Formats: sequence, C-alpha cells, structure tokens
Amino acid sequence: DADMAMYHAKAKGRNNYQFFAKELAVLSSHRLSLRNKLKTAIEEEQFSLVYQPKVTTKENRIVGVEALIRWTLPDGQVTPPNEFIPAAEDNGLILPISNWVFEEAIKQAKAWESSAPSYFTVAVNMSARQFQQPDLVESLMALLAKYELPARFLEIEITESMVMEDVESAIRVLARLRRLGIRIAIDDFGTGYSSLGYLKSLPIDCLKIDKRFVDELFKSKADRALVSTIIYLSHVMGVQVVAEGVETEEALKLLDDMTCDLIQGYYFSKPVQAEEIVQMLEKHR
Ligand code: C2E
Ligand code: MG
Ligand code: MG
Ligand code: MG
Repeated sequence: DADMAMYHAKAKGRNNYQFFAKELAVLSSHRLSLRNKLKTAIEEEQFSLVYQPKVTTKENRIVGVEALIRWTLPDGQVTPPNEFIPAAEDNGLILPISNWVFEEAIKQAKAWESSAPSYFTVAVNMSARQFQQPDLVESLMALLAKYELPARFLEIEITESMVMEDVESAIRVLARLRRLGIRIAIDDFGTGYSSLGYLKSLPIDCLKIDKRFVDELFKSKADRALVSTIIYLSHVMGVQVVAEGVETEEALKLLDDMTCDLIQGYYFSKPVQAEEIVQMLEKHR
C-alpha cells in the first residue's frame, strides 16, 4: 500500500545516501592519501625522467627525445603518469612537479649538448596549470640561463584543450616562447577539439598525431584520409608532423607513404634512461 511504498522509498533513499556518502569518503580519503604520497614523492625525489626518441620516418635518425616522468616508490612500485598527473593537476601539486621536470630535463639536455647533433631537441610536457602561470616565460628563461642551455634545444608539448581554454592568451604566450627560440608542439592531436581551422592561427612548430589515429590507420579508409589531410595541411603551414605510438613496421611504411616526418613509438624504442640515449645517438651517427 501507499504507506509501505513510502517507507521503502525513504529507506532506499537513505541507503542511497549512505552509500553515496561512503563512496565520497572513500574517494576523498583516497585523494588525500594520494596528495600526501605525492608530497613525499616531491620531498624525497621519487620522480625520475625517461626519454623516448623521435626519429625520422625515412631513415630512423634520432632528431630528439620526449621526457616522460616516472614515479617509483621506495618499494620499487611504479605509478604511471596517467594515474597521478591528472590528480596533481587537480590538487595543485602539479606546479612543483612540473618545475622539477623542467629543471631536470634542461639539466639533462645540457649534458647532451656536446654529443647531440645541432637539431636535437628535448621535448617536455607542459601541464595545464603551469601554462596558465603569469611568470611562465620568465621562469623558463631563468632555467635556460641557469644551465646555459640554448633555447632551441627545448620543445614544449601542449594539448589542444590547453590552447582552447583561452585561445588569445595561449597564442600570445606561445609566440613569446617561440621568439625565444623554444619549439612548440601540439600533443595528442585529434583527441580534443580537433578543429583543423584554428591550427593556422597557432604559432607552432610541430603537431603530434595521437596514437589512437595511428592505431586506426589500418582499420578505416576515412581515418587514413584524415591523417593524410592533417599531414598535408601541417606541411602547407610549415609545421612538422610526428606520429605517436607507432608500434609496427607496417604503420611506419604507411606513415612514410603519407609523408609523415617523424615517428615516436615502441617500433623504434620505448622510453629509456638518459644514458641509453647517448649510446643510441652514437650508434645512429
Ligand atoms: P604523452 O605526452 O602523449 O606521451 C606519450 C605516451 O605514450 C607515453 O606514456 C609513452 O610511454 C607512450 N608511448 C609511446 N610510444 C608508445 C607505443 O608505441 N605504444 C604504446 N602503447 N604507448 C606508447 P607515459 O609515459 O605513460 O605518459 C602518459 C602521459 O602522461 C603523457 O602522454 C603525458 O600526457 C603525461 N606525462 C608524462 N610525463 C609527463 C610530465 O613530465 N609532465 C606532464 N605534465 N605530463 C606528463
Ligand atoms: Mg607528450
Ligand atoms: Mg601524446
Ligand atoms: Mg597522450
């Protein structure tokens, strides 16, 4: 009857509420403990960088590397960046982490300077919050000066969504960075707004086609046409194209046919320690 129905509805509502509250508590305590663990990680330097080569599609010559962060706990457990970078972006710890990443990458680039070819670049992923810092350009200039690294060694990877947050201001910041000689790459292209139209107004040097597209190359004609078009348009605008996550020779061949300039992926190499990059550079000289 009606009373009974009311009783059940209330009980259900209360249960739902209790369930929800419990979920929230678990979630926020999880967040809090992740935040504390990240703080410890910063203080105790549990982070390190690995580097993945970018090579020419044709001759597989190394033209640069991308720095990728790794978090290793004292017990050896490794947490992948996709599991803590978004959280750090939310809880604010991304700023000290990003500062550490840039300093470490610039220090390493300086160490490579004498053995690397003149066109060699070290790419660093910029965080969304970092990109919004008003003193971004000055602090990068200060870091380059501290290590006496010519700006042309540094490439910054930003995503479409970071640009779309505030297009006008993004263009201004990117233009300033480029005037210093820093290279700019759009990362994960095709996963965000993917508007080819606004590309022409962006002061960029390089466009990285996301792995998802690369994986679709063999599945659909439409995806092949899309990638071809992206490459064509980029070249018209004087922008270099990198295909991310290339794992097979077949993909490499297809991308070469499409005149894609560079590839990055397990086909050539996984991300490796800095020392291995020196060996690779010597071998591929
Ligand atoms: P991303 O910048 O797009 O980096 C490429 C990711 O693809 C890396 O994952 C790399 O290891 C992986 N990858 C490269 N080639 C292949 C391949 O052939 N197959 C497969 N399956 N994967 C491949 P990783 O190192 O786990 O990084 C994931 C994401 O975390 C990065 O994507 C980037 O968005 C973020 N990230 C990594 N390091 C940093 C950092 O220092 N700062 C910031 N802000 N974000 C970072
Ligand atoms: Mg990247
Ligand atoms: Mg990417
Ligand atoms: Mg990615």
